[in-house]
Amino acid sequence: MPGPSIVWFRDDLRLADNPALRAALDRDEPVIGLYVLDEESPGVRPLGGAARWWLHGSLASLAERLAERGGTLVLRRGPAAQVVKKAVADASASAIFWNRRYGGPERDVDAGLKSDLREDGVEVASFGGSVLFEPWTVTTGAGTPYSVYSPFWRACLAGPPPRAPLPEPREIAGPRHPIASDDLDDWDLLPQKPDWAGGLRETWEPGEPAARRRLREFLADDIAHYGKARDEPAAGATSLLSPRLRWGEVSPHTVWHEGVESGSAGKFLSELGWREFAWHTLFHFPDLATKNLRREFDAFPWPRLQPSRLEAWQRGRTGFALVDAGMRELWETGYMHNRVRMVAASFLIKNLLIDWRRGEQWFWDTLVDADAANNPFNWQWVAGSGADAAPYFRIFNPELQAKKFDPDGHYVRQWAPEHRSDEPPRPMVDLGETRRAALDAYEAVKRAPRG
Ligand code: FAD
Repeated sequence: MPGPSIVWFRDDLRLADNPALRAALDRDEPVIGLYVLDEESPGVRPLGGAARWWLHGSLASLAERLAERGGTLVLRRGPAAQVVKKAVADASASAIFWNRRYGGPERDVDAGLKSDLREDGVEVASFGGSVLFEPWTVTTGAGTPYSVYSPFWRACLAGPPPRAPLPEPREIAGPRHPIASDDLDDWDLLPQKPDWAGGLRETWEPGEPAARRRLREFLADDIAHYGKARDEPAAGATSLLSPRLRWGEVSPHTVWHEGVESGSAGKFLSELGWREFAWHTLFHFPDLATKNLRREFDAFPWPRLQPSRLEAWQRGRTGFALVDAGMRELWETGYMHNRVRMVAASFLIKNLLIDWRRGEQWFWDTLVDADAANNPFNWQWVAGSGADAAPYFRIFNPELQAKKFDPDGHYVRQWAPEHRSDEPPRPMVDLGETRRAALDAYEAVKRAPRG
């Protein structure tokens, strides 16, 4: 007896171009949408605060959109391996579909579920929806993962192009017998006291409709300046799609194809390539957030942490205008411009000699686009320990970076105006001295055997 199908939504909170949803609809049986808040499966990284805020808005939007079409979203909480099986049993579902995840612990959960459910006679299928190219299909001639971006991206582009996006369904037949669902508000994803999310609410609108709108706007108005102005934090020239891609409110396939059609997206599409590279790297190195990719960096002699220094950085009180502006933008909006992320990260690692993992953790907690691959990948890139990383000895000078990329001081004036006053704050460290100390510390890495 065929029963309803479950679509297990994860990092794909959308209706358009959702292969798992399409597969469920093609069965012509009622469809139940399921989302599981899993903070318990071993190794699955609990979400940061800003990400939880985004998730709340995105789930509310998805539930509304499903309901408008006749469908439903069931919310359950707990270790996915158990919770998903229970939902399948409660619904007497005969099929379940999902779009793939690429983190190590998540893959373990999914593989276990797939085999257990199949043993129980449930149809299970997974699809590619979050990256343009499946990680196991892009390898060097020797069958190993790429460690350098350019040949990686060339190899991606040499194969068949990303598949065309699937249309958004108009109608979704909901189940005849609804199953129990948590109430989204009971998940406490939103901050209570203190409510620090005012700046996030002013800056962002989570959900698929806003994501599609932003993509259209960006391609119509901003893409022409992207190549030239993407490094200037005050220019507003970038897409601001990162949280939308993180949560899958828009698929990379849709962004790719609409970008290609716009005719002027070359540089922009290569940034999507960095996203692919980060995700493929995570697929091959699941410990990306905790372990140096280049193991010789294990020899780096990080000094004992001085918590007041870390806090000065987190609060944007370093006395360096571009770093302070970036860290305040992050705190206020859950976002920081890419150039400023690089400068702020370099300052933490190389001028304060604080382990990149502490910075990564702060970003994980405060970014609305905090992404299991992009965040550690980029921190390791700045540290010099990662894939195709900036060499350690290339140390950004935050003052020169401010002159070059924020020459009129618009960005600094917006986020850290005291730096443009008659009495600007004093720098917390001497750039020359700390640079020399960083290079001395790096000698230990140079002496270590290459990993
Ligand atoms: P655009 O310039 O419009 O780029 C379009 C898309 O390409 C982005 O949305 C993103 O998905 C992808 N992209 C762009 N640059 C990169 C990059 N360097 N690496 C990987 N993908 C990229 N990005 C995240 O999505 N999540 C993170 O947690 C994250 N942490 C970072 C930490 C550090 C220290 C640094 C230096 C960068 C980090 N990035 C992260 C990458 C980058 O800063 C953001 O993707 C970008 O600023 C998002 O703005 P946008 O969408 O306007 O980018």
